[in-house]
Amino acid sequence: MKEIECPNCGAVFAAREDKCPYCGYINPLGAEAKFLRDLETTRKELDVVDDEVREDYKAEMKKGAKSTVKAVVIVFIILGIIIGGFIALEKALLNTDYDGNYADELIWQRTAYAEYDELLEAGKYDELMERIADDGEEHDVWSWEHYEEFTEIADELWGNDR
Ligand SMILES: [Zn+2]
Repeated sequence: MKEIECPNCGAVFAAREDKCPYCGYINPLGAEAKFLRDLETTRKELDVVDDEVREDYKAEMKKGAKSTVKAVVIVFIILGIIIGGFIALEKALLNTDYDGNYADELIWQRTAYAEYDELLEAGKYDELMERIADDGEEHDVWSWEHYEEFTEIADELWGNDR
């Protein structure tokens, strides 16, 4: 270990000391070395703090990303349920397996079924039979509420030859 002699009191002490341990005289080289050592210690401490802050930030970002993904998934599930519900409701309203445009079919059924009712009430079975046969190629005629009833009438009138 390098030693120096104090210019003030003549005592000998380690050159790395920032001041004379006997009289307190400032040792400029030792003081500078101590300052640099302290600076290095502070820098290392700051690095640790910096790393901790960075880790915390990363953890926060991860948490944020996770909750964003969670929120998106939940939104999709809710949308799926709503859309699924609408499709099920539409099918239930139509009471049919019809594969075309449900809304158009529903509108068609309201008009056509009313006309079927009128023909049935008027006893115009031939005309009704023809209508149903024609419409049945494109539309759901089987969901008409009197379809079964009319089938029985048709069976009586024309048997199984119709
Ligand atoms: Zn001294």
